[in-house]
Amino acid sequence: MENQKTCPFCAEQIRQTAKLCPRCRQWLTLRSIRHPVIYMLVGVLPLLLGAVLVFVTISRMFDNIGNPGPYYSEFASPLKILESNMNWAETGSGLRIYITGLLTNESFQAWKDVEVECRFYDRTGNLIDAANGLARLTVLPESDSAFRVSVTPSRATNDYVVYRVSVSNARNAKSWF
Ligand SMILES: [Zn+2]
Repeated sequence: MENQKTCPFCAEQIRQTAKLCPRCRQWLTLRSIRHPVIYMLVGVLPLLLGAVLVFVTISRMFDNIGNPGPYYSEFASPLKILESNMNWAETGSGLRIYITGLLTNESFQAWKDVEVECRFYDRTGNLIDAANGLARLTVLPESDSAFRVSVTPSRATNDYVVYRVSVSNARNAKSWF
């Protein structure tokens, strides 16, 4: 029949103008709010976006609790290295450079997980290697602490003539993780 079409879902012959198949109840047009695709877009998408927003807000809250301020970057180098020395040692995982030293905390804030930036120069003063060593210690306000960091060399031992160390970062001792 001319004014009939086949339902794409159940193959039933239905009227040409039908928006809803009378047999299988499938929506045949996207224009209806009750069509599953439109229903998803209008009803479920805002819920998903809402869930993402709640997740982001909660993660930020946890980050503020776990890493409270003030941050190391808010201070003008509160940790300073007073003295240090460098030595080589053969370990189970190969040759390593150890830098041992003493650092002082000039702030009223306790710091932990001190990142020590190590720069290495050859005899002509070229920067030949660099690494960050992590010192897992806590330095109390206005006090000193000994530290040791180790780095894996990437060059021949003879290239390492001069080294310089500085504190690049540390975490507030009140941080949870
Ligand atoms: Zn149908």
